[in-house]
Amino acid sequence: MADPVAATPALPTFADVAAAARRIEGVAHRTPVLTSRTADAMTGASLFFKAENLQRGGAFKFRGAYNAIAALPDEVRAHGVIAFSSGNHAQAIALASRLLGVPAVIVMPEDAPQVKVEVTRGYGAEVVTYDRYSQDREVLGREIAQARGLTLIPPYDHPEVIAGQGTLALELIEETGPLDMLVACLGGGGQLAGCALAAAERSPGVAIYGVEPEAGDDGRRSFHAGRVVTIPVPRTIADGAQTTYLGQITFPIIRGRVADIVTVSDAELVETMRFFASRMKLVVEPTGCLAAAAVLHGKLDVAGKRVGIVISGGNVDIASFARLVAPAT
Ligand SMILES: *Cc1c(COP(=O)(O)O)cnc(C)c1O
Repeated sequence: MADPVAATPALPTFADVAAAARRIEGVAHRTPVLTSRTADAMTGASLFFKAENLQRGGAFKFRGAYNAIAALPDEVRAHGVIAFSSGNHAQAIALASRLLGVPAVIVMPEDAPQVKVEVTRGYGAEVVTYDRYSQDREVLGREIAQARGLTLIPPYDHPEVIAGQGTLALELIEETGPLDMLVACLGGGGQLAGCALAAAERSPGVAIYGVEPEAGDDGRRSFHAGRVVTIPVPRTIADGAQTTYLGQITFPIIRGRVADIVTVSDAELVETMRFFASRMKLVVEPTGCLAAAAVLHGKLDVAGKRVGIVISGGNVDIASFARLVAPAT
């Protein structure tokens, strides 16, 4: 007989984050924690930026991807893994698979940017394309997974992915000591949930915030409604946060441990990209600016506080970057 409890996904805990930290050690970069006197002066706070734009694969997603694949039982892992994504998760799965010697299939829309397809192939993954207007990628992905015995690694709603993402907060707090606030970028919630698990344990009393694009505020709405709210695909330059709902695993963790979720506009993201480029010499993609944009644009009351901020990724093609950071004429 089916056990009703077994249908509820098991939530990861701090112990899973600690196990993830051991798995990724020496493989993922321990990214630097940066400070800026200009940013501190603008906000009256002490800000600590965790620079995951300098992570392998260009984003924090490598942590969760590597951890999830490494945690599979040997005989399961040997068959290979599959992911659907045209973004940072795909690159992270492709890179992690190569490092672990595991075959990987990435399902991408056939109109995905050619550079992304090439980077993913360059890491040795097999790219299977589909027509996003006529084919359902999940159906296609499941068919391929079943036919070849591959394990699906989702981008955020997976205990080992969440635990892997949490390692960034573990490293951050190891370096800074206790924080008053921790601000993360929010798409499907893997980063925020993982960071919440780590920070609640290592910096008790820290107030944890998630930041979403204004147009894609499903997380904020879900947080306040107490249930997962689904929205249509939002129009925003934050392409890594165009998710339309939080996960079944990420939501309860966020609901239980996060203080609030706030939003920023695309214009605020662009200003933050300019700030990072001109003041801190960093290339940060729009989605990677979410947390910093909220702090630099007064969406959170940070004055007098010690605040950790996740810079989550730097994968933006150089032409878009140049266009976005160029001064308005
Ligand atoms: C995926 C991604 C996010 C959102 O992460 P979730 O775990 O889905 O909330 C934020 N920033 C970047 C750069 C990403 O690639």
